[in-house]
Amino acid sequence: MQEARPIRMLDDHVVNKIAAGEVVDRPASVVKELLENALDAGATQVDIEVVAGGRDAIVITDNGSGMGRDDALLSLERHATSKIRDVQDIEQVATMGFRGEALAAISAVSRFTLRTCRRGDEAGTEINIAGGKILEVREAGPIPGTQMAARNLFFNTPARRKFLRSDATETAHIRQVFLLYALACPEVGLRLVIDRREVHNLPPEDSLEARLKTLYPPHLVADLRPVLLETPLVTVRGYAGLPATARGDRSEQYFFINRRPAAAPVLHYGLSEGYREALPRDRHPVVFLFLELPPETVDVNVHPTKREVRFRHPGAVRDAMIEAVRSAIGASPVSAPLSGCAPATLPLRLAPPPAVVHMESLPMGDAPSSVAPPPGGAFPAPAVAPASVEAAAGASPRVEIPAVGPPAEPARRLPEGGPWKWYRLLGQVGGQYAVLETEDGLVLMDPRAAHERVLYEHFMGQASRQKIASQGLLMPQTFSLAPRDALAVRKHIGLLRESGFGIAEFGGDAFVVDAVPAVFGELPAAAFLADVVQALDQGGGRRTAAELGRDLIAQVAARHAVRRTEAALGREALDRLIGDLAACEMPYTCPHGRPTLLHFGMGELARKFGRS
Ligand code: ADP
Ligand code: MG
Repeated sequence: MQEARPIRMLDDHVVNKIAAGEVVDRPASVVKELLENALDAGATQVDIEVVAGGRDAIVITDNGSGMGRDDALLSLERHATSKIRDVQDIEQVATMGFRGEALAAISAVSRFTLRTCRRGDEAGTEINIAGGKILEVREAGPIPGTQMAARNLFFNTPARRKFLRSDATETAHIRQVFLLYALACPEVGLRLVIDRREVHNLPPEDSLEARLKTLYPPHLVADLRPVLLETPLVTVRGYAGLPATARGDRSEQYFFINRRPAAAPVLHYGLSEGYREALPRDRHPVVFLFLELPPETVDVNVHPTKREVRFRHPGAVRDAMIEAVRSAIGASPVSAPLSGCAPATLPLRLAPPPAVVHMESLPMGDAPSSVAPPPGGAFPAPAVAPASVEAAAGASPRVEIPAVGPPAEPARRLPEGGPWKWYRLLGQVGGQYAVLETEDGLVLMDPRAAHERVLYEHFMGQASRQKIASQGLLMPQTFSLAPRDALAVRKHIGLLRESGFGIAEFGGDAFVVDAVPAVFGELPAAAFLADVVQALDQGGGRRTAAELGRDLIAQVAARHAVRRTEAALGREALDRLIGDLAACEMPYTCPHGRPTLLHFGMGELARKFGRS
């Protein structure tokens, strides 16, 4: 039995250390608190720098109001806040913070430096604290604004430190926080530097849309529809993704309540209801939704760090959500065709292909105007871009056989050095294979294989002109791989990094990728990794590692790009594809060795017809 000990009041800094656990559980929550403070201080520019997942350092610099010396000292005390005065204020709070706990908590579990100066003051203040103990207070330069630096986070709480995950994971959480506030405050310039590498430098914008454009790939932004609904209780604004944006998880759903990032089950419920007719149950749209409602009807004080809120009128909020998203996506021209012209450049432009090819826009030569074009033109294109060639084939039997054959096409010249001097495009078989007449007989072309070859040479050209450029991902992606693939990734991780992948182990068979080779452009990065690695594992050891990597990446990029663009091609696009293929170094096979062209020369045709 232990001998009874006297009860005593805990020291302030012990209390702070205990309380700190509630407010700061990981580096990302430090970033959140300091960033909120900067925004509350009216900053128009905030710079965030983190080192080693925030473990070694988190430094946040703002150009906000700054503090005088007395306020600076007071701000570090627990329950010291300038944002509310009494209980009634909590109901009306319009700032991000109001508990007055963050600075006390963060400075209790780190080596903390606060530097701050009000505009117009002759000198600023610098305070150094370690583990909650003030070490030094002195004058600092008169730079208006505030800089807060938390170093050696949890140095005095080893248990908490042990619970931190890998740098990559902690960094991923920090990026998530950054993203949330970047969306919440488009008018604030935000910079994020991770391990001395600038990951984002977002200029101040005058709209959410502008900010979305700097954060998300154009094809995603193009699939967003504006949301605006005003009811007496709540206003819902923002953007809702068309069904095409849907994903298997809810990770791209952002809700803000009175500008604070927030979550509430009723919001998710309203959202799924709003999309019920548009999406299967297990698919989730991308949304960025901002709800504004009177502060006294929202309880944000549920938990210090949890984003979860409660509504006084949840039913009304839910109904507003449903109506808001329904009218946003319902009114959208989901399958409205672009104008009749083919995409300006064949590959890489991932915009949907023209749904209908207008005859007038085709190079018809001297076609007699009395010939009625078959529905959809000589090259029937389904109204909605099909997901695959198979789908395209499935959609074409609707085409009626024209009573009069399509007019003869003019022959087209091919550049020097191509497989033939000229060709005449006769039509397509099964909605897929192009049929060509050339000076040397009949040629069938598989547009998909051809496209892959063209893209492959394009990507290879890019890769050889420059050292493989890497492009940071906004949201690092983690994925678990099958054990075999994971093994292969580990084996080739050096080569992957040389080739532009920012990749790190994530525990178990999981990996986190925060950058991809730039040739991948806007393609979904996650899909590639397994493919690249499988290809790497099969690719022999004949060529140098760098060559091999470059080649494989180009192959995989080409394959995925084709998957994204493939759809029935109009005549113009086919003509362009034929020209591009003829200009390729190796036009006869796709990068994986399948044929792009089948050739039946005049000699062969004669033999087959028993003419020779
Ligand atoms: P809260 O944000 O809940 O008020 P904090 O502990 O985060 O509590 O901050 C305490 C106080 O310090 C704030 O109320 C604010 O007056 C002041 N403060 C904190 N950060 C800044 C900053 N970046 N610029 C100006 N004042 C700040
Ligand atoms: Mg705060």
